Amino acid sequence: MIAGTDDRSVLVDVAALLRWPGTRREVPVALVPERIETSVCAVVGLNGVIVAESIGEKVAVSGTLALRWRGECRRCLEPATGTTEVEIQEIFEKEPVEGETYELPTADHLDLAPMLLEQAILALPIAPLCDESCAGPAPGVYPTAVAAEIDLVDEQTGQLGDPRWAALDALRLEGPEDSEK
Ligand SMILES: [Zn+2]
Repeated sequence: MIAGTDDRSVLVDVAALLRWPGTRREVPVALVPERIETSVCAVVGLNGVIVAESIGEKVAVSGTLALRWRGECRRCLEPATGTTEVEIQEIFEKEPVEGETYELPTADHLDLAPMLLEQAILALPIAPLCDESCAGPAPGVYPTAVAAEIDLVDEQTGQLGDPRWAALDALRLEGPEDSEK
């Protein structure tokens, strides 16, 4: 861990980076933010390694981080958790372009945490699921579209089948097997 970097900040020594253009630094990220959330999801943690590189007077930050999140399943309303990849590719410069680049502070150290958390929020699921196959709170009473689809998927072909043909399909499958014996 770099001195000064903890679970709330990700510090980069910009003075050292800018001294020599093209200098690259690997920056470990292990953020556990206090309260970063949308109405349906919250950031649990952001982990990985990103690379900070000086390009002239600018600093480019890039890498892929693992975003752990928790939220409420949109179907069964039970707690849901998951991990999503966050692609980071941002530029810091002294005169930032609004909405495109970030401001490079005049201080020796740059804290990447606010930028990383902004990107993390954008990557949070909009409609979380506890599991792709979640059938909802009471599938027998209120079957969701997905649960109904799963029942109809033909195990052999992966295609959606018609339940009325299921009995016939079963007969067909039994046929060749019997003749092989
Ligand atoms: Zn669920």
